[in-house]
Amino acid sequence: RELAAFSAAHASSFTSYLPGGECDHRWQPLHAEYREIFEKHVQRFLARESMKEQEFLALTRRYSKNVCGEEAEEWGNFVRQLTMCEDFSHFLEFMKSQEAPGLSSGPSPPEPSSSTSGQHQHLDVSDEMAAFFRCLQHNTARQALADFVLTHALEFVVRSKEHRHEWYLLYQEFGRLFEQSASAALEEAGLSLESLASFMVQTLPYLERSYEIQDFLDVCVPAEDYLSFVDLMKGAGAAALEGSAEVQGSMQERAELEAGEQQQLPGSISTHAQAQAQTHAGEQLAANAHEQEMPPAESQEEVGQRSAEFLAELSALERTQVVRLAFRDFLDAPDAEPAMVCFHQLLGLWPGGLPHTSPGSLFFSELNAAVRPELDRRLSGILDCVERRLTEKGVAAPHGRYCAGPLAGVHCVVCGAGPVGLRAAIELRALGAEVSVFEKRRQFSRLNRLKLWEWVKFDLIGWGARQLMPKFGASAGHLHIGIRQLQLLLWKICLLLGVNVQVGVELFEAPDSVLVVRGADSDHPVTVVPCDLLLEAGGPNSLAWPSAGLSFDVTGTAQATGLVANFERRPGLGEELKEFSWARQFNRELFARLQSELHADLENIVYLRGEEAHYFVMTPRHQGLVAAGILAAVGSPLSSASKEALQVHARAIASFFGLPEACGFAAPTQLFDFSKRRSCRVAMQTLGPGGSGSGGPLLVAVVGDALLEPFWPEGLGITRGFLGALDSAWELSSLRAADFEAARSGQSTGALEAACRAREKACKLLKQIGAANQNQYLLADDRAYGLDPRTRYKHHLLA
Ligand SMILES: Cc1cc2nc3c(=O)[nH]c(=O)nc-3n(C[C@H](O)[C@H](O)[C@H](O)COP(=O)(O)OP(=O)(O)OC[C@H]3O[C@@H](n4cnc5c(N)ncnc54)[C@H](O)[C@@H]3O)c2cc1C
Repeated sequence: RELAAFSAAHASSFTSYLPGGECDHRWQPLHAEYREIFEKHVQRFLARESMKEQEFLALTRRYSKNVCGEEAEEWGNFVRQLTMCEDFSHFLEFMKSQEAPGLSSGPSPPEPSSSTSGQHQHLDVSDEMAAFFRCLQHNTARQALADFVLTHALEFVVRSKEHRHEWYLLYQEFGRLFEQSASAALEEAGLSLESLASFMVQTLPYLERSYEIQDFLDVCVPAEDYLSFVDLMKGAGAAALEGSAEVQGSMQERAELEAGEQQQLPGSISTHAQAQAQTHAGEQLAANAHEQEMPPAESQEEVGQRSAEFLAELSALERTQVVRLAFRDFLDAPDAEPAMVCFHQLLGLWPGGLPHTSPGSLFFSELNAAVRPELDRRLSGILDCVERRLTEKGVAAPHGRYCAGPLAGVHCVVCGAGPVGLRAAIELRALGAEVSVFEKRRQFSRLNRLKLWEWVKFDLIGWGARQLMPKFGASAGHLHIGIRQLQLLLWKICLLLGVNVQVGVELFEAPDSVLVVRGADSDHPVTVVPCDLLLEAGGPNSLAWPSAGLSFDVTGTAQATGLVANFERRPGLGEELKEFSWARQFNRELFARLQSELHADLENIVYLRGEEAHYFVMTPRHQGLVAAGILAAVGSPLSSASKEALQVHARAIASFFGLPEACGFAAPTQLFDFSKRRSCRVAMQTLGPGGSGSGGPLLVAVVGDALLEPFWPEGLGITRGFLGALDSAWELSSLRAADFEAARSGQSTGALEAACRAREKACKLLKQIGAANQNQYLLADDRAYGLDPRTRYKHHLLA
């Protein structure tokens, strides 16, 4: 509080942020004063806790690795204050920002003056510019923008609707209204877009200091940035909720209205588009009617020509709308099957197939060429990301770049659409292979949340994660993602690349040495799958081709059990519960209470709030499970656990931390044994000359949990899984279709065997990487990680 009071008291001394120059001589003593206050408080804290400075530093290092959720925000504040003490430029930046008001909270404008006192000032601007700002504040489109915010704000106070399709549609509508408002203001002021842009660039340093520019930014920023738009609407929604009685009436009205609207929802995207096109036609006709009043009259031919042009324009518009809606439906699809359906609906808009761009071009290039012209900038963001990835440099010979398609003509089959199988499928497809992914589950339903390492975050952002999940990786602290969200995200990228994906089908080795798939329904026919390369990505204990004879080592001895419980997220319930991560050694008192009150004998416990569920994961000791009536005795197999007692126990723990009883279970509570972990002795293996029969795989590569079961509390599952997927793809990219043909015909398996030998080097490294020793193995620049192992592992280890 003392620091906050200090910044408030001295913020105005930093006014020479405006023209007039910097005043280091005045600010440096203030910086010293600030540091003194901060240090005084740290010393007081250490004295109170009887802690030495060294111990404190060690604790902060440990803490910063484990902190998450809202605690991470507080931690971020502390670190910021610390940095400001150490670094004058940070201090300066902060003090200046303290003085600049928030985007939407400026006081009402005073009479124009050139004074620099106070928080805002009026800038000397040209007449056109002044007219532009004036028009922008008062034109009718601007009024429409304000009405729009008022009308829709309440839809943004329901958190469970986060990033719903409807929000995105509203965002686009907001963008359109803004464009109308700005173009009307530009026209009225006689100002060109270029002059406005150059004015904005010149006045960049003062952007938040002028009322007029502030007003412009208040609408321009949310129109250009989805997250700002959501913030704006949430703010307006919260403000609206405060005016309770009236608002409740309007919510009621909206609910009734929505119910009515839902009944009238158009059945298909084309009817939707037709409706929009009809509206457009109506507007055009009204405009035409208006024009008819005006002389001079047009000739019959001119009218005919104009009608033909209008109809052509209308059908182009309709097609654009249809493509946009289909594409948006695909991006918003909530599960694997709907994503496939929407994607095929999109492709169905080209009944004769996508137009070919160039001979042998990748499916994605064709899709991109056909779809992109119909999309606006926001929708085409995902295509930009994928395109950038497919054309990036840095993958050197002999492996070739993605666009060189080294694996063209090679049939790769991936067993399992877990995160690692999908990540590998993306890479193989990008290298030009024909890739099929078969997943035996029908739905992506795993709610567990995964902690991701920083490099995985950058990897996914590179492929377009933020376009598919706008808030991906935006919060402070560690990044967590629901496993089903991660699968869905990768699944959609697979579809865009032209991977053949199927759910509800199991892959296995048939007796006559062919690879087959069979649907979940018993009467589903068994189909043979052509396969050169089989990627075993089915998780632990799940190999599709057992006769490869892969053998495993088993590591780990101490008893380690995981308990995972997911509870429903319901609007307004349990939202105040803060995310936490506690280990016994850091909070003995809490763990003692858990034990005495609930028999919960835990090593650690983590609570995270996912998009769809409240997620609790903990490591219970067997004594506690016995005391809670879940296991008969210490060491009893987890499969013998009482399911009822387990649910009761999980509920009691969640209630202990304040989760309301009304949040029911979102999935059955589960126990996992991670005391023993399997690792496959080889990562890639040939199946000998002549392959495994006429159609079976010639090469088997193992990735993900199937290769190496992780110690998942360290977040190793995905990080090692993705590293392994990239390593495998890299070695495979040295092969060509001819190498597989030579192996199939019994001529030679030399090339395949060489790739297998090369693969083992990185695999050995992979098996040693853990959370604590990562710096020993991995390069620091994790934004630069790519397919080539030299971009990820320390070079001397690869030599
Ligand atoms: C409770 C818990 C918490 C975890 N927390 C973390 C964490 O915080 N961070 C982290 O990085 N990791 C964590 N993990 C580990 C992580 O979930 C795994 O490492 C990761 O899911 C492995 O991905 P995968 O693709 O290799 O296999 P899986 O995710 O197991 O996917 C395999 C897929 O293959 C399918 N399949 C299997 N056989 C066949 C077949 N014959 N035909 C068709 N389909 C088949 C399965 O249905 C499944 O969908 C956690 C695991 C658990 C259990």
